[in-house]
Amino acid sequence: MASHIERRWLDTGSGPGAMVDVIVYDAESPDQAAYRRLIAHSSACQTCRQLDENGWATSTCETAQRLYRVWRRLWRPLTAAAATASPEGSPTT
Ligand SMILES: [Zn+2]
Repeated sequence: MASHIERRWLDTGSGPGAMVDVIVYDAESPDQAAYRRLIAHSSACQTCRQLDENGWATSTCETAQRLYRVWRRLWRPLTAAAATASPEGSPTT
């Protein structure tokens, strides 16, 4: 989640108050939310963590594949070529 630092007025309840630095978290976009759901699922799911004999993820989890497709549909690639490319090791549809 993106964030930035702003200087804001803090009412201290007594005295003149103070200007303080605060971390402001920007609202999550739909693709960021979809990506977060995919990562949260994959890190907690036993099926997603299964490895084949070579140590590669088996990518057999249907829930992860569905979450991945949702994320890919929402994600806005920088180029049209990137939209068709599937990163190595990612689940195939
Ligand atoms: Zn899973």
